[in-house]
Amino acid sequence: MKREIVKYGAKVLTEKAAPVTAFDEELNQLVADMFETMYDAPGVGLAAPQVGVSRRLFIMDCSKEKNRQFVFINPEILSTEGTQTGDEGCLSFPGIYFDVERAARVIVRAQNARGEWFESDFLDLEARCVLHEYDHLEGDLFIEKASRLRRELVKRKIQRLKREGKW
Ligand SMILES: [Zn+2]
Repeated sequence: MKREIVKYGAKVLTEKAAPVTAFDEELNQLVADMFETMYDAPGVGLAAPQVGVSRRLFIMDCSKEKNRQFVFINPEILSTEGTQTGDEGCLSFPGIYFDVERAARVIVRAQNARGEWFESDFLDLEARCVLHEYDHLEGDLFIEKASRLRRELVKRKIQRLKREGKW
């Protein structure tokens, strides 16, 4: 079942999410719902706080064919390497994109939906996505990575959209 994506301004987006402790049917349902919501949006990554659930969980699929799914539960960033700069968006900031500098490579350790730990290495867009989604679990939003000028412009645009009832 598709869930509602919460937009910037919602408190849950700036809270530090709590660890996932129960690997049960409810968790499986949440993961399935998150994939449905992300593909429908459409997007390449989605963190649980973005559907109003303050838990340490995010999903990713950066492939065109929608066949490279990853589920990260209680993730830890083990290391990062290099830098990349590219256009970045966020499903909680519809229509807003700007350049963000991220590491070019990331090694992450996380649990899957069965609670099993895995370690994996990601590059380029997937590295960008992992780091963006991980930040959501810390309550950190990509807008804080923009220059001060860009941040002000984006916040002003959002305020205007809110006044117009479009946010
Ligand atoms: Zn985001």
